[in-house]
Amino acid sequence: MAEVAACKRFKTETEVGVKPDGAAAEDGRPDGEISVKINSEALRCRICVEPLKPPIFKCKAGHVLCSPCLEKLLAAGHALKLDIFCDLCCKTTSYRRCVELEQFSNAIKVPCSNQTYGCNEYIRYHEKVKHESECTHAPCHCPETDCTFRGAICCLLEHFINAHGWSPTNFSYNKPLKVSVAHNHRFTLLVREDQSMFLLTNTLTGIGNALSMVCVRPHESGPNYSYNISAANSVVSGKAEGRLVFQKDPLVSSSSLSGGVQLGKFFLLVPPELADNPSGEPTVHIRVDRFVA
Ligand SMILES: [Zn+2]
Ligand SMILES: [Zn+2]
Ligand SMILES: [Zn+2]
Ligand SMILES: [Zn+2]
Repeated sequence: MAEVAACKRFKTETEVGVKPDGAAAEDGRPDGEISVKINSEALRCRICVEPLKPPIFKCKAGHVLCSPCLEKLLAAGHALKLDIFCDLCCKTTSYRRCVELEQFSNAIKVPCSNQTYGCNEYIRYHEKVKHESECTHAPCHCPETDCTFRGAICCLLEHFINAHGWSPTNFSYNKPLKVSVAHNHRFTLLVREDQSMFLLTNTLTGIGNALSMVCVRPHESGPNYSYNISAANSVVSGKAEGRLVFQKDPLVSSSSLSGGVQLGKFFLLVPPELADNPSGEPTVHIRVDRFVA
């Protein structure tokens, strides 16, 4: 069974309890709030079956549909003056706003699917997909072979350190960083104090080490990054001497590592002769730049 991080930094709603101005209900819920089980079909458009969000329309028989579906019916020529053919009634009928269901759908809140990973948000049902596509608690995965850990980004960092003994290298944006990569060391963890996490992955090939970088985060949203990476025979007074290999990735790819780590589109191939120290480990110079698209 997969190891899952129950993020201890965040309490669940029941643990927190709610104490509004007036007295909270005895079971810890605010006044007027109840738990219900509901068949989600009641909150879905009868045509596209997507969650209904205002504006919601209904025909005279009470078939409810979303605004995009109503527009498609109109565009398809189903409109007869104010009347529209209802595919479900199989007859021409008139549609009007269903304010009651709009109020109801706005009042229905469901927990985020990432509750296990520390997200305590309750979201309107029709906003759940959007929230979860941006939820910062969505899990990222450990890329180590045979490790099934997944957890929120803060827990993943703790896991790397505690379970695998990784020691993160701290870095700053827009500043060069020197990193030595052991031949058999697949991952080098780079962390900034804002907790942005990057993995420098090292893939051994027959003609040298292929190095590439990935930003570990659950979603692509947020700032973007580019990076330069280079290796040289030697660097004297800040200038590379001898043979130099260089690569620039204009947009570092982001990954939750759910599918493991693949060699990125951009990678630096460091041939063995550029391993410039006695241990034969390649030393690379990296600079990560952050930019807002
Ligand atoms: Zn629809
Ligand atoms: Zn109808
Ligand atoms: Zn969430
Ligand atoms: Zn692990």
